[in-house]
Amino acid sequence: MRLYHDALYDWSKPVDSVWETDRNTLPAPTTPRLETDETTEIAIIGGGYCGLSAAYHLARAGINVRVLEAGSIGWGASGRNGGFCSIGASFLGPAELNTIYGQDETLAFYRSLIDAVHLVESLAQEERIDFKKQGDGVWTLAHKSNRLQELQSQADLMAKLGVGAQIISAREFANQAFVSTEQFGALFEPVGFGLHPLAYCLGLADAATRRGAKINAHARVLSWHHENGSHRLVTGQGSIRAKRVIIAANGWLPEDLVPELYGRSLPVMSNIVTTRPLTGDEIARQHWRTQAPASNTRAHLAYLRMLPGNRLMYGGRGDTTGSPSGLKAMSSHLARRMARMFPAFTGAETTHSWRGLISATRRMTPAIGELESDPSVSYAFGCHGNGVAFMTWAGRELANRVTGIARELPAPLRGLPPKFPIPALRLWALRLMLLRARIADEL
Ligand SMILES: Cc1cc2nc3c(=O)[nH]c(=O)nc-3n(C[C@H](O)[C@H](O)[C@H](O)COP(=O)(O)OP(=O)(O)OC[C@H]3O[C@@H](n4cnc5c(N)ncnc54)[C@H](O)[C@@H]3O)c2cc1C
Repeated sequence: MRLYHDALYDWSKPVDSVWETDRNTLPAPTTPRLETDETTEIAIIGGGYCGLSAAYHLARAGINVRVLEAGSIGWGASGRNGGFCSIGASFLGPAELNTIYGQDETLAFYRSLIDAVHLVESLAQEERIDFKKQGDGVWTLAHKSNRLQELQSQADLMAKLGVGAQIISAREFANQAFVSTEQFGALFEPVGFGLHPLAYCLGLADAATRRGAKINAHARVLSWHHENGSHRLVTGQGSIRAKRVIIAANGWLPEDLVPELYGRSLPVMSNIVTTRPLTGDEIARQHWRTQAPASNTRAHLAYLRMLPGNRLMYGGRGDTTGSPSGLKAMSSHLARRMARMFPAFTGAETTHSWRGLISATRRMTPAIGELESDPSVSYAFGCHGNGVAFMTWAGRELANRVTGIARELPAPLRGLPPKFPIPALRLWALRLMLLRARIADEL
């Protein structure tokens, strides 16, 4: 049922990201292997932000909860993303959401996205998670002059929510942030910042265990049995019996385990490269002066940050194979794009190159809810990108639904999205979409 090359699903080791080089200096929560048959109230499949946030909030409410993670903690997107803690989660912009759901529901959706960023900040404060915050605010660059309009509608929507987002000219951006070959004005959102994604993920896991949650790493759920009104999740060496199950696996959704979810998520790959530390001269030649993360309006997306230590992180989308050669090709492609955008960095070789999966849905928004056929199974998936904040929020929301204190979700998030028409051909549909996006990016 996997859409990509097996190389993308190697749970035996963490991915070769720049973040992993810091693992020994980060919190090390207790995450033993599961080697016996045990019982819990709630079992969670997936040890990323969503599963860990759900576990944290459930444990705080005094509920017996267990996370099962196939790899090491944060093995999925949560330990390897770009570290933008920002507003987002859907491929649709405010105008499209307005047309489909109306203004009230669109505003409610965006309110939850803003709330998500504040949730990450307050968790860090309360639980003393040192996620190495970087910058205040987030930039979005118009990669062509005709893209400023879409940034303006985002700024207008933010104004309605009391967030003072600003549109600034290309010249002003150059004064405040950096110089590149692709900047025709920018949006600055004061809500958001950069963080160390693995530090945040391990910190969240640590907080969850301190609150009483149990976490098993290297415990991939291989089969799921329904026995006398309860669930039994079987891993390689043990099993967990639970009254309820939460599925928090986003781009790695195990479709074979839950037939009702089959064909409702399209895993999309995102790739990142980082350079060697840049010299003071190289940085000065691009007039770099911002700590805030930046992305652009391309559908293929460029997202970038100057990391502490002056390594440039540069990410984008486009690979549809998942193979080792696909990784090499995409890394060269990103390095070329980075050099085109920042000519002074042309000679800066790449030290790390990795990738991971996010999840797209047919309706282009995330999905949170319970299965109709079995309300004791909850899910959250379909986060189209900005999941650092949003999937933390989704995890809390799942916990609240279990404990009965949930409010109604904004309409774009409610319930299961429709299936992709011929699920087996999803990858071909993605290839077509990426081709169309590449053409649209140049218009
Ligand atoms: C390269 C990249 C860059 C990104 N950059 C950003 C960014 O800068 N800012 C941002 O906000 N978002 C970013 N994202 C998206 C963000 O990382 C995700 O939306 C978010 O981490 C999803 O969290 P999650 O907990 O839902 O899923 P994940 O973190 O993907 O976790 C799901 C987990 O489920 C586990 N799992 C799957 N099947 C099983 C099974 N059968 N048994 C047990 N466990 C299982 C997987 O091993 C995985 O660890 C990026 C994503 C990628 C891939």
